[in-house]
Amino acid sequence: MNRYKYTTYAKLPCFDHEREMTMRGLIGNGGMLAMKPIRVTIWNEYVHEKTDLHVASIYPQGIHHAIAEGLSPYGFHIQTATLEQPEHGLTKELLDHTDVLIWWGHLAHDQISDEIVNRLQARVLQGMGLIVLHSGHFSKIFRTLMGTSCNLKWREDAERERIWVVNPAHPISEGIGEYFELQTEEMYGEFFEIPTPDELVFISWFKGGEVFRSGCTFFRGLGKIFYFRPGHEAYPTYYNLKVLRVIANAVRWAGTSHGTMPTFGNTAPLEKFR
Ligand code: ZN
Repeated sequence: MNRYKYTTYAKLPCFDHEREMTMRGLIGNGGMLAMKPIRVTIWNEYVHEKTDLHVASIYPQGIHHAIAEGLSPYGFHIQTATLEQPEHGLTKELLDHTDVLIWWGHLAHDQISDEIVNRLQARVLQGMGLIVLHSGHFSKIFRTLMGTSCNLKWREDAERERIWVVNPAHPISEGIGEYFELQTEEMYGEFFEIPTPDELVFISWFKGGEVFRSGCTFFRGLGKIFYFRPGHEAYPTYYNLKVLRVIANAVRWAGTSHGTMPTFGNTAPLEKFR
């Protein structure tokens, strides 16, 4: 697996000190987290980039590499994993040392073994954060955690997408403004067959007229899940600074601490009442 420990901030467009401090979590709610870097694993099936020349021209080293580079200013400890590795790169040891897992898949959902899906589900229920991107809506792990088909409408026609913040109190919307736009994206449209999200952060509008719940959070066990819609492989979405900001915000949100592991089953009373 590849490890990313970037410490150079000067490559960023519009670099300035306040922006750097904000990104590193030293301003605002991220202050405590800055003391201990969140351990992020970016998983990508890494198939399109090796089989499609157009996709390869956009992401020559893979979508996972582009996201890793884009997140590098934020101070996370980043690793990547891909399908072709043993156990799809998702060993028990790696997951035990992962605070937040980012997931991109499309063509190879069926190649993920059920054993690994069970392992991922168990880690989420134990508190690992999970960020599912774009076509990951059909991944085994997302459908398992949702319990629904996760089906939707789609159209690949390089449309403009306008992504509206519908919960400005939510930390995932920090630094995004009221909305942002992507000039070329694949359309995803409602109805999106998911359970009602625990929190809705973004709604997308597309030039063709459809709308979509494009930023949804879910709580499962001790784990926090964020689904984020943008990221079709044929467009340069993961170089967009707002998209990267949302993913970084989501890492911070999903990587926050949680309460104690509950106990289950037959239980003695806390107070004597007989
Ligand atoms: Zn797509």
